[in-house]
Amino acid sequence: MRLIILGAPGSGKGTAAMVLKEKYNLAHISTGDIFRSNIKAQTPLGIEAKSYIDKGQLVPDSITIGMVAGRLEEDDCSAGYILDGFPRTIAQAEALDEMLAAKGEKIDAVLSIVVDDEIIKDRVSSRRVCEKCGASYNVKYKPTKVEGVCDACGGSVVQRADDNPETVAARLVTYYENTQPLIDFYNAKGLIVEGNNNVDSDTCISDIENGLKALGV
Ligand code: AMP
Repeated sequence: MRLIILGAPGSGKGTAAMVLKEKYNLAHISTGDIFRSNIKAQTPLGIEAKSYIDKGQLVPDSITIGMVAGRLEEDDCSAGYILDGFPRTIAQAEALDEMLAAKGEKIDAVLSIVVDDEIIKDRVSSRRVCEKCGASYNVKYKPTKVEGVCDACGGSVVQRADDNPETVAARLVTYYENTQPLIDFYNAKGLIVEGNNNVDSDTCISDIENGLKALGV
């Protein structure tokens, strides 16, 4: 199964992807996580990506597409994957279609996570993430058992540098300009499955599971 998960920053894509990867035994490919680990290791890719990420802008397609193409060649992708945070532009979506077509493959469904902007701003300001495994927490709604320590892997749980109000506002603008048009792009292909994450992630996951069944995936 090959899935894409789409949604505004802070909509809960990562949390839903973590649940779905276990359930369907998929590789979880988060472009944001790949950039963050490159930033931490101070690789040339990380240094370049950081200048865009800090401003809430997209890393250019020329960098991002090549990075994902390489990742999709890794062994763990052969059994299926969930793309979290990619594609984010129409050019990325077209490049992905070409990469897959060259291998005789296709995307089975595109999961669209729906959340109101006001809820996003509230959740993102109190979001914390594990630096090691990427698990997402929230100091108001889903705290770790021990402050600053991941319940799942014991890694350090921190606030993302781009989860401040100014950068979140810029990320939302970027999302509506560049990424939201992908909903129409994939709707035209009949691939969209909606998950409503305004209430909680359990409701969102069950929406997605029902939608996948209805699509025959
Ligand atoms: P995320 O963890 O998915 O919220 O991504 C964090 C940041 O990484 C985004 O705000 C972008 O600056 C950058 N990024 C992640 N995925 C992409 C992508 N597909 N294209 C361009 N930039 C990306």
